[in-house]
Amino acid sequence: RGKRAFIAGVADDNGYGWAIAKALAAAGAEILVGTWVPALKIFETSLRRGKFDESRLLPDGSLMEITKVYPLDAVYDTPEDVPEDVKTNKRYASSSNWTVKEVAESVKNDFGTIDILVHSLANGPEVTKHLLETSRKGYLAAISASSYSFVSLLQNFLPIMNPGGASISLTYIASERTIPGYGGGMSSAKAALESDTRVLAFEAGRVRKIRVNTISAGPLGSRAAKAIGFIEKMINYSYTNAPLQKELSADEVGNAAAFLVSPLASAVTGSVVYVDNGLNTMGLAC
Ligand code: NAD
Repeated sequence: RGKRAFIAGVADDNGYGWAIAKALAAAGAEILVGTWVPALKIFETSLRRGKFDESRLLPDGSLMEITKVYPLDAVYDTPEDVPEDVKTNKRYASSSNWTVKEVAESVKNDFGTIDILVHSLANGPEVTKHLLETSRKGYLAAISASSYSFVSLLQNFLPIMNPGGASISLTYIASERTIPGYGGGMSSAKAALESDTRVLAFEAGRVRKIRVNTISAGPLGSRAAKAIGFIEKMINYSYTNAPLQKELSADEVGNAAAFLVSPLASAVTGSVVYVDNGLNTMGLAC
């Protein structure tokens, strides 16, 4: 039987989540995605109308099939956590069962089990603010959407993950080196995500033989990254200063993710793996 993957954080064909989905589909996996509720309608419409057909193309000439799209908001674990104004918001009210626990239950009812869990989402409402200017609310929101969301997803999906399965998330070098401009507590959120990767690898490895790794990816002009405002600068910086002076494509991260969740990486867990043209190794801009 082919493997089944649930990929949280796909809402268009530009980001890392989409590229990971493609790499897994090319390797024969069945693809389920979790799409942020406010972005669901446009994503499903675009998918249905063929807007993504060109980017669905796989190396063997076939088109990637997404078996099912689940609405998801990874900052809420159960319906009891959802505040009234969100509950009654038009975009949220027109979907149902989108808290993390409910999505895991729906996947269980629909498919029974999964093998691969991908977390490719982040959000920091104050990302453009310096840390010195970040509010408590903004900081905690960044941690909630970008770090705890992974803990929650793994907590809820672990019981339906087949032993030998694996999970992966996406992190950024701002966790360990100062990247001016990556603010609002997002650098803190990535540091938490990386630390949690180690602890969760231990816990999920012991209870269910599930591996947990994170990819520290280089800069990509995704929708989320454009919202931060300095992504072009980061891409140029990387192009100039990395050991490999080339553009980083989302597919390169997708391929590394496919390796890490495959049996080829059966002894790799708890790791931060850099897929960044080597930029992290440089000590001097050059
Ligand atoms: P992206 O816009 O493709 O993905 C981010 C996704 O998160 C979006 O689909 C968005 O709808 C979703 N999302 C936001 N809040 C959510 C919530 N509460 N519940 C569910 N989904 C939610 O952008 P991307 O840059 O590919 O981001 C994917 C991951 O890669 C993120 O963790 C990001 O931090 C990481 N990353 C990106 C870069 C980069 O330069 N783009 C570099 C390193 C790491």
